[in-house]
Amino acid sequence: PKKIVIQHDTKDELQKMAVTFNRMIGRLEENLEKQRQFISDASHELKTPLTVIKSYADHLLRRGIRNEAEALEAIETIHSEATRIQKMTERFLNLADTESGNHLDAKPIDLVILCQNIIKQLKSAYKREINLYFANPSITVSADELKLKQAIIIIIDNAIKYSTNHIDVYLNENEHNTIIKVKDYGIGIPEYEIKNIFERFYRVDKARSRETGGTGLGLAIAKNIMKQHHGEIKISSTEGVGTEAELFLPKS
Ligand code: ADP
Repeated sequence: PKKIVIQHDTKDELQKMAVTFNRMIGRLEENLEKQRQFISDASHELKTPLTVIKSYADHLLRRGIRNEAEALEAIETIHSEATRIQKMTERFLNLADTESGNHLDAKPIDLVILCQNIIKQLKSAYKREINLYFANPSITVSADELKLKQAIIIIIDNAIKYSTNHIDVYLNENEHNTIIKVKDYGIGIPEYEIKNIFERFYRVDKARSRETGGTGLGLAIAKNIMKQHHGEIKISSTEGVGTEAELFLPKS
């Protein structure tokens, strides 16, 4: 039988392949771990509202409607917790969609018109003063309209949730980017928390965020959307002074 001689350079090649292979396995394991973590976190998030719903429903079943005011309170709670679950599952699906690397349906959009429409919608829903400033009367970007709209709504929504004053939205352009900046004058974010807020389910203050109906997924989704557009999201903040969230869309 012929003897197989592994030459030195072949050995080197094999070693290189082994290193690449190991790295790939490492990355797969990391992704799997992230998925596992997501399922665990998501289940945990759903558990609280479900427990509340179940206990109120149990109570109604056991006692019947003896006291109308009490029953109404139970039904209202069931309704608001169910709405919370609905919102959360929508966000889970959104997150999965923006993480899957699905292709973008990009086309030219007039950013001024898009933002005017978003602001009109949010103003009437939340009864808050939201001002829009734009450097040019028409700013065209190439983007997936639904996704970009979602990212813009997420950052304005946060400004609404975490402040009580007016909100300013600025549309600017420089040589490389179109920039959407949302400025609020609210509670702000401590410096050491900024790096965490883009993590899925991360909230600076869990209790407060629950009160405001937050899921801790908004910024993770906005970050994915900007990544899909080869852009970026940046947040800077001063506690007690306010927060600035910026979306950068690269010019093609
Ligand atoms: P949530 O649904 O909880 O708002 P996000 O992912 O959108 O989740 O934001 C993560 C956390 O970052 C929030 O829970 C909040 O603590 C903090 N945060 C985001 N935007 C602001 C803001 N404009 N002002 C203060 N805190 C903010």
